[in-house]
Amino acid sequence: MAEVVLTGLGKAYGDGTRAVTDLNLEIRDGEFLVLVGPSGCGKTTALRMIAGLEQITEGTIHIGEKVVNEVPSRDRDVAMVFQSYALYPHLNVYDNIAFGLTLRKLAKKEIDHRVREVAGVLELTEHLGRLPRNLSGGQRQRVAMGRAIVRAPQAFLMDEPLSNLDAKLRVQMRAQIARIQREIGVTTVYVTHDQTEAMTLGDRVAVMRRGVLQQVGPPQELYDRPVNLFVAGFIGSPGMNLVSAKLDENDGRFWVSLNSDALLLPESVLQQRPALKQYVGRDVVVGIRPEDMEDTALADAREGEILHSVADLVEAMGSDVLVHFPVDVPPVVTDDTRELAKDAGTDDLPGVKDKGTVLVGRFSPRTRI
Ligand code: ATP
Repeated sequence: MAEVVLTGLGKAYGDGTRAVTDLNLEIRDGEFLVLVGPSGCGKTTALRMIAGLEQITEGTIHIGEKVVNEVPSRDRDVAMVFQSYALYPHLNVYDNIAFGLTLRKLAKKEIDHRVREVAGVLELTEHLGRLPRNLSGGQRQRVAMGRAIVRAPQAFLMDEPLSNLDAKLRVQMRAQIARIQREIGVTTVYVTHDQTEAMTLGDRVAVMRRGVLQQVGPPQELYDRPVNLFVAGFIGSPGMNLVSAKLDENDGRFWVSLNSDALLLPESVLQQRPALKQYVGRDVVVGIRPEDMEDTALADAREGEILHSVADLVEAMGSDVLVHFPVDVPPVVTDDTRELAKDAGTDDLPGVKDKGTVLVGRFSPRTRI
């Protein structure tokens, strides 16, 4: 086990594409760190540089005490699990798991002991004699994991290992990966574009955008205190409502005008962000998480907490009901949020539409709508 430390890490491909810029990350011994971001943000490139599969353009990589910039991949003592699993099709499960140990010329008895132990943890014991083509997707994925675990490497590097599985299996395997990692405590860097996977798996989550690290922290911190619009829109599902508004001061209290209503800015927000006061009289972007909105009888509503609107779409999802309603304010059309929508691969981010803004609220089915 070891720390993995990236210092000023950068990568420019031969054609001039800048995939990673000045990446600084300290992944602690035994930590599960998730690198997350939209397609093309450079997360796979970063992982491949750690693995030694991609030349570094600038910066330093430490694994344990050692600078590994010039160390070939096979000598870095890391195990990579790919999206494609990369199993040997002509070898059965036992030999696939044993492969790395056989290469290292370990004694047969030692190999047998380790393979059976790992197969037990991954519930593969009864499939050891099977070829990969006769396994389900989930079983193949576990064999790929087994091959990584059996080597007892200093670090696991995983590149979207669940993306070929169906939704149900993905959730099961996600829990299994979390359990195994906790059990064996190996430093893990895990790449995904799926924010739910990132939030549920990571001790810490590092959000990247266009090759640049935006924020790194425990999942709850990213959710509660995103440092910019990009992280605010990326973390959380459904995404945070982002709408333009104006900040005003009245009687020493701070208000944002939205939808011809004025919302009172809670004291706690001002305490966390005292610099907000400088924005009085100026346009701001307000972020409201769908789960922070609730449907209330008017009589119960308190001053400064009301938004009037009529729902124009209701989506019942069983556990939640998503309610979309229009807001009579200009949509957020700054360059940044246009990019946000583009990067997230959607034109459906609340507040980023060209015509009319839609807020999404999430309510419990028991709420009266
Ligand atoms: P995805 O989730 O789609 O795999 P990613 O975040 O892992 O994306 P990378 O694969 O690291 O992103 O790619 C980062 C950027 O580098 C992209 O713009 C990509 O087109 C570019 N890129 C990746 N590999 C090469 C290459 N071999 N030559 C040139 N450009 C490349």
